[in-house]
Amino acid sequence: MSDPKTSIIDSHCHIVFSSFDEDREKVAQRWRSQGVKALLHACVEPSEIPAIKSMADQFKELRYSVGVHPLDAHHWKPETQSVLKKAALDDQRVVAIGELGLDLFKSNNLSEQLSILIPQLNLAFELNLPVIVHCRDAAKEMLEVFSKLSQDGSCPRGVMHCWSGNVKQMREFLDFGFYISFSGNVTFKNAIDIHECAKYVPSSSFLVETDSPFLSPVPHRGKRNEPSFVKHVVEKISELRNESFAEIAEKTTQNARELFGLP
Ligand SMILES: [Zn+2]
Repeated sequence: MSDPKTSIIDSHCHIVFSSFDEDREKVAQRWRSQGVKALLHACVEPSEIPAIKSMADQFKELRYSVGVHPLDAHHWKPETQSVLKKAALDDQRVVAIGELGLDLFKSNNLSEQLSILIPQLNLAFELNLPVIVHCRDAAKEMLEVFSKLSQDGSCPRGVMHCWSGNVKQMREFLDFGFYISFSGNVTFKNAIDIHECAKYVPSSSFLVETDSPFLSPVPHRGKRNEPSFVKHVVEKISELRNESFAEIAEKTTQNARELFGLP
């Protein structure tokens, strides 16, 4: 079971969303009481950056990324790449570019998504920052992009966030040096592929996250998710791997620090 002294990192959350406006301080008290020592706040489009930045002022353990989500492609403007670059260079608490990626589940505008993905991957490589990758029903297309960049020696490092693929796909992303991040959906009873991935992922290659306020883990499924619930993700993975809660918490904390250079 969770020991409050164990350190856990929620490697992906969105507490800037208005669903936290009423009780953000209380939410922070709860993550602190559950041992969440650092959080990475993901960005979906640039107009969020000032609010995320002030959130990092409010909560000292928070770091953040800057980027444009594939389903927010309509927010991309000619100057967006330089806006992201400036934001990343202006604040040392920016530790990644993202979330970026491809989503062919909710949308089919592949060429538009690619047109905002490539400049962000290039920026990450230029700034030597890891990327946070959102990839839904698009593993094949995403692997093609990484493969091409790798051939040119310009593929950034990063994490496949909210992993929902199978073991074969996971191994292909691992081969490109990507980390795999497990979220609340690993706790779902019928998520057989994700369970297999959690069993077989190398211990040096995975992270945990909530993706709050989305995708609450069991036993909070269907309710607003929050960073303290990351413990349920750790619990489920420890059960699947037959390792202790403390071991999973420690490994994923170490991996998140390694990838994002967190304190
Ligand atoms: Zn997200």
